[in-house]
Amino acid sequence: MKTQIAIIGCGPSGLLLGQLLQQAGIDNVIVERKNPGHILSRIRAGVLEQGTVDLLREAGVSQRLDSEGLPHDGFQLAFDGRTERIDLHGLTGGKHVTVYGQTEVTRDLLEARDAAGAVSFFDASNVVPHDMKTDAPYLTFDHEGQGIRLDCEYIAGCDGFHGVSRQSIPAEAVEVFERVYPFGWLGVLADTPPVSEELIYARHERGFALCSMRSPTRTRYYVQVDAEEKIEDWPDERFWDELKHRLPGDVANRLVTGPSIEKSIAPLRSFVVEPMQYGRLFLLGDAAHIVPPTGAKGLNLAASDVNTLYRILLKVYREGRTDLLQRYSEICLRRVWKAERFSWWMTSMLHRFPDNDSFSQRLQQTELDYFVGSDAGRRSIAENYVGLPFEDIH
Ligand SMILES: Cc1cc2nc3c(=O)[nH]c(=O)nc-3n(C[C@H](O)[C@H](O)[C@H](O)COP(=O)(O)OP(=O)(O)OC[C@H]3O[C@@H](n4cnc5c(N)ncnc54)[C@H](O)[C@@H]3O)c2cc1C
Repeated sequence: MKTQIAIIGCGPSGLLLGQLLQQAGIDNVIVERKNPGHILSRIRAGVLEQGTVDLLREAGVSQRLDSEGLPHDGFQLAFDGRTERIDLHGLTGGKHVTVYGQTEVTRDLLEARDAAGAVSFFDASNVVPHDMKTDAPYLTFDHEGQGIRLDCEYIAGCDGFHGVSRQSIPAEAVEVFERVYPFGWLGVLADTPPVSEELIYARHERGFALCSMRSPTRTRYYVQVDAEEKIEDWPDERFWDELKHRLPGDVANRLVTGPSIEKSIAPLRSFVVEPMQYGRLFLLGDAAHIVPPTGAKGLNLAASDVNTLYRILLKVYREGRTDLLQRYSEICLRRVWKAERFSWWMTSMLHRFPDNDSFSQRLQQTELDYFVGSDAGRRSIAENYVGLPFEDIH
């Protein structure tokens, strides 16, 4: 079997790249180890930057996003008994973010791929990329009891943090930058009305909390927990009690609780691999980098990698500009590191670190106080939160 672009992984990055290439008439095949039902059951990100929304529009999959997505012009920071609003719209010349669940983005993209009749292999096992350093790379994998070879021109590694793509690159060809945080986020999804129209990020001496949402009737709340906490030790009542402790009193008083429909603990990690390419294999999204979710950047970074590779491939196939392929990693990494910095900074400012002494705590408090007390500080938070611009590809 033959295609132009072999895509490993059917998460948001693989699907979005596939959809854009399909529209441009560039043949692609997705190979995924899970089935669509499993993919759609994963509850993950929910805040889309303007650039991500624009790219989804360009990919022709924004019908539901445009009608059901919730534009947010600001968010709240609660700390030291006060609540401060970051006016995204006012501070960035009219930009905003859109609340629309990653599950919905994935559903829209899966439906579009199905409608376009593009080829995807689900439940594929033993996926292996080969000969990435040659002009004739290929994948092998098992599907429905058959061994399949997929010849291609380029391979897009969109298979997330635990995928095979990054692991197929020889260790000596890459450098890894990593920080693992000594805590995780316990998240609860519930069919309850949001406690606030805007997201609330709360710093509290008991730990961080976040009030988020997926729709006007579905909420997503998080509390910081120790890295070794077990989900079984967190019945719903304990979760709601802890959340209320960490929120400002007026917010806690109007919080509507209800049975959780999903509950999970996600570890927090910052991770970047350099370079994000090896011969004709390109890494996108979580396969190349991870951010702690505090800045809402994971899914958005995946979209910006897709934007870069898609525009490079357009120039390769339409103008013969193969020279641009060598620049993929360098272009992506400039933006990746800025999002890594912002996510690390938000995490550092808002969480309780077990080894923080009183001096570090005062510094943390002062950092927040300084940033929200200064127009330049607020502007810096706002421009990073709505997302830095995508780089033009020349
Ligand atoms: C629990 C959790 C919560 C999160 N919450 C947030 C959040 O609140 N905000 C935020 O911005 N971001 C969040 N993120 C991050 C965000 O969801 C990711 O950045 C985003 O999913 C990246 O998309 P991706 O397509 O690169 O990778 P993924 O979504 O991980 O998709 C990778 C795909 O590749 C498949 N795959 C893996 N290995 C193989 C293989 N060997 N062969 C074939 N297929 C394979 C996987 O099954 C999967 O379908 C969260 C992530 C997790 C895990």
